[in-house]
Amino acid sequence: MNAVKRYGYLLDMDGVIYRGNDLIPGADRFVQHLINTDTPFLFLTNNSQRTRRDVVTKLSRLGIDVEERHIFTCAMATARFLSAQKQGGTAFVIGEGGLLQALHQNGFSIVDHDPDFVVVGEGRSVNFEMIETAVRMVLNGARLIATNLDPNCPTQAGLRPGCGAIAAMLEVATGQKAFSVGKPSPLMMRAAREELGLSTAETIVIGDTMETDILGGAQMGYRTILVLTGGTRRSDLTRYAYQPDQVLNSIADVAMPARSLATVAASA
Ligand SMILES: [Mg+2]
Repeated sequence: MNAVKRYGYLLDMDGVIYRGNDLIPGADRFVQHLINTDTPFLFLTNNSQRTRRDVVTKLSRLGIDVEERHIFTCAMATARFLSAQKQGGTAFVIGEGGLLQALHQNGFSIVDHDPDFVVVGEGRSVNFEMIETAVRMVLNGARLIATNLDPNCPTQAGLRPGCGAIAAMLEVATGQKAFSVGKPSPLMMRAAREELGLSTAETIVIGDTMETDILGGAQMGYRTILVLTGGTRRSDLTRYAYQPDQVLNSIADVAMPARSLATVAASA
């Protein structure tokens, strides 16, 4: 008797599906195959700037047609976590639309004094006045939350400082450590799996970054696939105590599920 096993994917985007505004060849075919075979999947991003709808539009312009339910951002993970911590809470936000919308949708109010939380996301709108305000709020008891601790983000023109860089400035100034909810936090990795209704053994992570995608997956016991179309080279792997289960040149090389309803014969 063959046991039948279901599985699904948590897919990183930048460096896996696209680089900047360029589609990585074969990524569109892979995603279309997941749709055609009813294989569960979520795009998992540590970019808190964009809303779900913004991400759907960006993917659509690259020739990948998915729905909002296929997108899971660190802004969503952060907002859900905070609303579980304090229903109807308040936040001072250093960040943009994706983060503001997620907080509002989870019952939070955005305030400019006496917040429960200072929440840091990506963005280019940050200025020193906001940093000063945030520092004083944290010193007055607001809890410091980062949507992620990525030190930098790739852009068309090169790297720019990421959420982790802004959070570090607040950490040094206040002596408080930011609590991060984005990848590799188990909070985001688990929430994404639960969203798909998968078990741990059924969950596969595909990403290009060891510190977020692969560490996050490894900590949760998910199967991890590192692709080399982003920021990591094969020779970098010696620097890490944890390793991905599989290393592939590109998402185009991931073995595609052959049967509908995402069922394959289990190897065990
Ligand atoms: Mg990436």
